[in-house]
Amino acid sequence: NRVLDTKPPREEEQIERALRPKQLDEYVGQAKIREQLDIFIGAAKTRHEALDHTLLFGPPGLGKTTLAHIIAREMGVNLKQTSGPVLERAGDLAALLTNLEANDVLFIDEIHRLSPVVEEILYPALEDYQIDIMIGEGPAARSVKLDLQPFTLVGATTRAGMLTNPLRDRFGIVARLEFYTVEELTFIVKRSARLLHCEMSEDGAIEIARRSRGTPRIANRLLRRVRDYAQVKADGHITKTIADAALKMLDVDPVGLDVMDRKLLEAILFRFNGGPVGLDNLAASIGEAKDTIEDIIEPYLIQQGYLQRTPRGRIASPMTFAHFGLTPPAGESN
Ligand code: ADP
Repeated sequence: NRVLDTKPPREEEQIERALRPKQLDEYVGQAKIREQLDIFIGAAKTRHEALDHTLLFGPPGLGKTTLAHIIAREMGVNLKQTSGPVLERAGDLAALLTNLEANDVLFIDEIHRLSPVVEEILYPALEDYQIDIMIGEGPAARSVKLDLQPFTLVGATTRAGMLTNPLRDRFGIVARLEFYTVEELTFIVKRSARLLHCEMSEDGAIEIARRSRGTPRIANRLLRRVRDYAQVKADGHITKTIADAALKMLDVDPVGLDVMDRKLLEAILFRFNGGPVGLDNLAASIGEAKDTIEDIIEPYLIQQGYLQRTPRGRIASPMTFAHFGLTPPAGESN
């Protein structure tokens, strides 16, 4: 079980919900997206219209669900939540859509995993607030048009490139979430510590922030584990030393790479001589699904400069060689 697994186990979901910022001005970081949404939401509210359909994309745990809830709250409307794989039949989506009130938000997580039949229903709903549904079966079947209330679809996906073109084209607002800086994560850790009534020094917060893979969900989860450690091994107060010892126990290395990160980088270094290596080979070599590598492990390693993705395959950077105490092959300019 990966310590930094990005999907929250069910029992942790409740705490996660409690730590979720509820308003746009509590949402840390992502300055550009916040500024844009502030304007678009203000304009839609003035006109008493639904906000344009909004696509949020970026790695797990960066705040897509949080943002969808904030949009609904700032608009003063309800949010209905579902996900691509859950909507199996056209009727599932039709039932959701016909129950929406004026200007409500429909949030579809993992929207790239919608089945083609469900996606077909969505197009006219997004464009004209109408759906065509089939009533009856066989020769007596007929298609009926239903009018919907105006609504906002907020779609979330790990990679925008996985959406079909017609679906992507129907979003008026497209926002790409970025990894958070250490300063932003420090702010988030301190806020969460306050909400969890846990004592912490500034350098303790920075240490957790620094080792959270640029991801608020991971920062919050590490905070809770470090808090446990501080309670059992010390007086409950989180300092840099306590945070460091706890993170070491959790197998998070000094620069914040976890077990899976190191497994992937070590495979490239030691089994493929630093690369290039194709995704299929890499996935087989470490026993992970290609999607997991592309959606969860790689983005942070690429952003941090440990890994490069080239047309010939993945390549370890000189920084990666150095991190594992190796000398990069001479004359290689990558
Ligand atoms: P995603 O939907 O992208 O996987 P979530 O919206 O579920 O991510 O965010 C995971 C957790 O991280 C939330 O519970 C929330 O507490 C925290 N979080 C995410 N973004 C922010 C942010 N900008 N500011 C503060 N906390 C955040």
